[in-house]
Amino acid sequence: MKPVTIVGGGLAGLTLALGLRRRGVPVKLSDAGTYPRHRVCGEYLSGRAISVIQSLGLRSGLDHLGAVESSDVIISRGSSVLARRRLPQPALCLSRYQFDRFLVDQLTREGAEVQTGQRSSAQPEEGVILATGRQPAATEHGWRWFGLKAHARHVTLGAGLEMHLSSRGYIGLCRIEDAQVNVCGLFRSRTPVPDLSTSWKSWLSGESGSLLAQRLRQADWDETSFSSIAALSLVPRRAVDREGLRIGDAVTMIPPVTGNGMSMAIEGADLATGPVADWSSGQLDWPSTTQKVAKLLDHAFSTRLRHARWLQHAMFDPFTQSLAWNLSRIFPAFPSLLFRLTR
Ligand SMILES: Cc1cc2nc3c(=O)[nH]c(=O)nc-3n(C[C@H](O)[C@H](O)[C@H](O)COP(=O)(O)OP(=O)(O)OC[C@H]3O[C@@H](n4cnc5c(N)ncnc54)[C@H](O)[C@@H]3O)c2cc1C
Repeated sequence: MKPVTIVGGGLAGLTLALGLRRRGVPVKLSDAGTYPRHRVCGEYLSGRAISVIQSLGLRSGLDHLGAVESSDVIISRGSSVLARRRLPQPALCLSRYQFDRFLVDQLTREGAEVQTGQRSSAQPEEGVILATGRQPAATEHGWRWFGLKAHARHVTLGAGLEMHLSSRGYIGLCRIEDAQVNVCGLFRSRTPVPDLSTSWKSWLSGESGSLLAQRLRQADWDETSFSSIAALSLVPRRAVDREGLRIGDAVTMIPPVTGNGMSMAIEGADLATGPVADWSSGQLDWPSTTQKVAKLLDHAFSTRLRHARWLQHAMFDPFTQSLAWNLSRIFPAFPSLLFRLTR
């Protein structure tokens, strides 16, 4: 079988690499960073990816690491709670520090060649899959988007996931392994925010008097887990319009409010596994493989990307946020409907 090179070892690259190894394909995966490391992420895995994880036989390993099942969600703004819902299917919450390390260890055991700490060429070419993550964009419509995350202890939550809306963005809290809570927010600003390395706690802790501030009053922060990310681009893109064979955020990034980006990375890798294995065994040529994967990704994700864009807008535009808020009060099923449409 012909060898496959995967550039990028986030969830998309690692899942594809594992799927290909299971089919006997020789795999070389490279990542610019090293493992384990903290990443900006809500660490809330929901949706169809959980079935992919199960089908790859990885679920018990995640449970062993202390992954927490989360079956309910609270949405809050200021001091009030808008909605409290049970999820149709429980989500799984585990730090990316543990999750990525677990996958890379598994991959190494299964015979892949893994190279870390070195940036590889990310040029589209035959046999190379680009799983390189988001495409940076300094600003979008004049806004600078950035994400912050850190773990904390001594935080009591009223649900497995809490989503807190504020005037600057939204912050998600979920229980993860070892009695920790992951606190992760997406924010936007018109001007550069230079002092995040010192001001991150105030960004994540919400406005005074809010339910979020109350939750985090006694927080014991794990300073080493703090990470930040900037230059995010949230405009949806189609895989068929991109050059090369891409999966995960390297195609497009779904707004984080959906808690579906990790799922899309894992599901996309799963969809790509069959065609790439067929190329490796000589049953498909490379242009057909690239096209087939792109069509599968667009078919699977275009509807949820469309709805997610609307949801993202509702989170930041005061008028749309109030409209969504009032609709949710009148029609209690409204938040659940939005949740379903982005999956
Ligand atoms: C604030 C925020 C909160 C989020 N919360 C959630 C959530 O709760 N639930 C959820 O499902 N999703 C969430 N997401 C989205 C989720 O984290 C991403 O969609 C997912 O991690 C994408 O995985 P990926 O493998 O495509 O990319 P990444 O995880 O970004 O991996 C790409 C990898 O490629 C490597 N790389 C890049 N270029 C090169 C190169 N040239 N050579 C070698 N290596 C390279 C990088 O080092 C990186 O490790 C959130 C995102 C943000 C920003």
